[in-house]
Amino acid sequence: MQIENNKIVVMNYTLTTDDGEVLDQSDDGSFAYLHGADNIIRGLEDALAGKTVGDKMNVKVLPAEGYGERNDEMVQVVGKEMFEADAEIEVGMQFHAEGPEGHPIMITVAAIEGDDVTIDGNHPLAGVNLNFDVSIIEIRDASEEEIAHGHVHGPDGHHH
Ligand code: ZN
Repeated sequence: MQIENNKIVVMNYTLTTDDGEVLDQSDDGSFAYLHGADNIIRGLEDALAGKTVGDKMNVKVLPAEGYGERNDEMVQVVGKEMFEADAEIEVGMQFHAEGPEGHPIMITVAAIEGDDVTIDGNHPLAGVNLNFDVSIIEIRDASEEEIAHGHVHGPDGHHH
């Protein structure tokens, strides 16, 4: 069986930056996704199409196919008063806000100087090359329900 649309794929992977920093990892067969449903980033999904169980591969995903390029317009300096009075604001803190198109986006506090807080609406992995070290553990047909929902069900997926 090959990886194609409407297959459930179980895989182990290690995600590293170009510097070798490990960003994410799954090595116990607990990660599964529905192929063709945008469950994973496009660059990785495209590279996995046509692979079979036992295949191991290294996939480099550039920002355009990953979390996008960094956009300096997403970085703003705001006053501390924008936050709740009792909020403890720290560099690296993340919170949700409404993005320019009304979608929720994740904002990261990038710097604090006096009452000026620099916030960054770029995805933390924007502009980062993503290196996936992947091995394919299992491929199965998705159920009609999984296809309708656009995600994996079952012991290793989510439950309703
Ligand atoms: Zn569901």
